[in-house]
Amino acid sequence: MVRTRFAPSPTGFLHIGGARTALFSWAFARRHGGRFILRIEDTDLDRSTAESTQAILQGMDWLGLNYDEGPFYQTQRLARYQEVAEDLLRKGLAYHCYASKEELEAMREAQRERGEKPRYDGRWRDSRQTPPPGIKPVLRFKTPLDGNVVFDDLVKGSISVSNAELDDLVIMRADGTPTYNFGVVVDDRDMDITHVIRGDDHVNNTPRQINLLRALGAPLPQYAHVPMILGADGERLSKRHGAVSVMQYREDGYLPEALLNYLARLGWSHGDEEIFSLEQFVEWFDLGHISRSPAKFNPEKLSWVNQQYLKVANDARLREWVRPFLLADGCDPEQGPSLDRVTALLKGRVSTLEELADAAVYFYRDIVPGEALREPYYGAAIRPAVADLLGQLREVAWNAPAINDALKAVAKRHGLKLPQLAMPIRVMATGETHTPSIDAVLELLGRETALARLERELGKFPAAHS
Ligand code: GLU
Repeated sequence: MVRTRFAPSPTGFLHIGGARTALFSWAFARRHGGRFILRIEDTDLDRSTAESTQAILQGMDWLGLNYDEGPFYQTQRLARYQEVAEDLLRKGLAYHCYASKEELEAMREAQRERGEKPRYDGRWRDSRQTPPPGIKPVLRFKTPLDGNVVFDDLVKGSISVSNAELDDLVIMRADGTPTYNFGVVVDDRDMDITHVIRGDDHVNNTPRQINLLRALGAPLPQYAHVPMILGADGERLSKRHGAVSVMQYREDGYLPEALLNYLARLGWSHGDEEIFSLEQFVEWFDLGHISRSPAKFNPEKLSWVNQQYLKVANDARLREWVRPFLLADGCDPEQGPSLDRVTALLKGRVSTLEELADAAVYFYRDIVPGEALREPYYGAAIRPAVADLLGQLREVAWNAPAINDALKAVAKRHGLKLPQLAMPIRVMATGETHTPSIDAVLELLGRETALARLERELGKFPAAHS
């Protein structure tokens, strides 16, 4: 059975790159009817925080990347790493190293001076020296001295690294916590991981992990190293390129399914397909179509994808999504037209929920157009037509077609083109120059609110010169 995992280190929020790795691991497990495991790699005590763990769990939850097992926390498995480490020690596959920081630094400095690559020189590997008193040793793994590690990466193809390139890595720190490479190996083995799908910043760790797995007599998982995500300028993705935290996208009004759809296309493709459901993605997803070159993050495209999802989103669902954004804009969604109808009217015009809420403000809060906005539209010559229209609007049936008829008739009577009348009305009723069709807007505002605003604003028109 296929078993994949997502194994973030809780040293920050769930970022775009992590979310994509999680999505690919999740989709691969789902595709093959396997299991997806969440593991929090929190043994770097200096850098891991509970807030980051929470942020990661929240991000996974918001995206709907449900896991079948976990979350497992490495800090709760310390006894297990200790046990496996002792086993390696007993079998002569690992050894204590007492070299101090200063000593190691001096060793590396000398290597650099000789033009060599800095690496641990194995000074405690077969040492019979008496350990210096008072020093807590680290545990190092005896990397095989010769031979190559060869593996078939499912994205990158065959990779071969000579053991001579690898030094004896620390597997247990002096404080009894495992290093990253050791924790991963023990866990991948204990959790029966069959496919390790992760960022290719870990490809250099893989030969070390394979050596360790072999030393443990464990079967090797298959590896798929996914190229990095870069900003449009080709630099490593960072804040400069837009939000990097997944939860920031939630705050900015993106839909989780849109973000997932976008992430799915970031370094993976299925023909020219751009918009597809998560179910469809699971059906199509294969590691063979992951691109070998880095993907570029494009916020405009993400925004476009989000727009496609908003356009077809179910109104009842949209109502729930947009409500908190309206509240944040100081609007009470209960005081005004039905939110379903408002979202239905606006959803085709915006890219995010936040924009949708911003565009809906005038339905839920009184607006007063500023002088700069009034000036170009509130012409003395238009005033009689507006007054005429107000009279009509008191009488007509309150629906968009009837309102539209009244607008047209009044414009005609006063020798105006429709926009010459509709624009001032739009500004008077909404405080905006861009809105959906004004008849539909007025209908939703309701006769009472619409007339109250129009009457008040009519008072702001300059008096006609006699
Ligand atoms: N904890 C590692 C990280 O966050 C990932 C480990 C792995 O996937 O093997 O970069």
